[in-house]
Amino acid sequence: MRVNRKAEGRAASGHPWIFASDIEDRGGAQPGDTVKVVGPRGQAIGIAHFSSTSQITLRVLGRRLETTDSAFFQARIGEALAHRKRVVTDSEAFRLVYSEGDRLPGLIADYYNGHVVLQLLTQGMDRSADTIVAVLQNLLNPRSIVARNDVPVRKLESLPLESRVLFGAPPDRVEFRMNGLVLQADLVRGQKTGTFLDQRENYLAAARFARGNALDCFSSTGGFALHLAKSCERVEAVDSSAEALRIAGAAAEANGISNIQFREANVFDLLSGYAGARRRFGAVVLDPPAFAKSRANRDAALKAYREINYKALRLIETTGILVTCSCSHHVSESDLLETVAAAALDAGRTLRVLERRSQGQDHPILLTVPETLYLKCLILQCLD
Ligand code: SAH
Repeated sequence: MRVNRKAEGRAASGHPWIFASDIEDRGGAQPGDTVKVVGPRGQAIGIAHFSSTSQITLRVLGRRLETTDSAFFQARIGEALAHRKRVVTDSEAFRLVYSEGDRLPGLIADYYNGHVVLQLLTQGMDRSADTIVAVLQNLLNPRSIVARNDVPVRKLESLPLESRVLFGAPPDRVEFRMNGLVLQADLVRGQKTGTFLDQRENYLAAARFARGNALDCFSSTGGFALHLAKSCERVEAVDSSAEALRIAGAAAEANGISNIQFREANVFDLLSGYAGARRRFGAVVLDPPAFAKSRANRDAALKAYREINYKALRLIETTGILVTCSCSHHVSESDLLETVAAAALDAGRTLRVLERRSQGQDHPILLTVPETLYLKCLILQCLD
């Protein structure tokens, strides 16, 4: 498949995406084919997965002209696993394959204590499902493999949205140890691949600083709340998903934790109500869903971040902690810092930055692919 000079330059700079408008000749490529990519003068760029419908027509898999057979996936997934063995400590759950971050664009694989959950996000990865399953069986001998392909981005690839067990039979809830806690996930019906794994290291960081009464907003399956329960007197965990809170509640029970109150509520309303009632907390966590799903709604998203941070800051005691996160790729760390600074000004609070954090090390960031960096987590202290 021949691409233009612009695409050639982009590939040379280390970014794997080639857009439809930069393709000069598609040859006879079929949906999901692995194709050889050449520049305008016929020089080889590498191999890529072809998508017949996405605006991202090609995702470069590597410079070497090789076939994407089981040896290819074995090498890439094996390398991904070796990296996790280096960086993941004290956790039976981790992200095993992080798409572009592991040079396997379009493939997500999360590991939960003997069970694997896949997201096959491109035509190429979807067509490689059988090979990927065989390689995972070979590398990890898992008890089950689930495909959580109920992800809207698959629509851009004309792929069906579905959640399917590919191998074995996952239990209704998988239990796994993380940071000394026993946590739970529903791999087939839960949010994302069952739970959110990207905050694993931030849970510990938050627990290091949080004291007193804590409020975990957008708690989902309770990751922050369960960790804070150890260092705080009482924790309130708030989410709009009753199902996620049920899983959090079961985990609290399994760990003998009795100082968490779970509340199904809209965080925006709850924070306003608590300000009215003059409630105060030693620590507040804000881990909202991505408000900026695209660049187009970045401004609206920044307003929403400013609003929740303002509302949270009014509830924090002097010397108390704000843990504030954004998982929107389109909101940078400096955007978030600026937004929280504006919110602090509105709320009349002085903030000290204790830590500037990001996603866990099992979500590796490629320097040349800015899209691989999405999670920001600031730990701030209210000085007055
Ligand atoms: N902190 C969680 C991940 C949060 S993901 C963890 O560490 O696992 C975002 C969560 O926000 C989801 O669980 C979703 O159900 C919830 N949510 C989205 N909008 C909400 C709202 N307005 N009020 C309360 N919860 C909301």
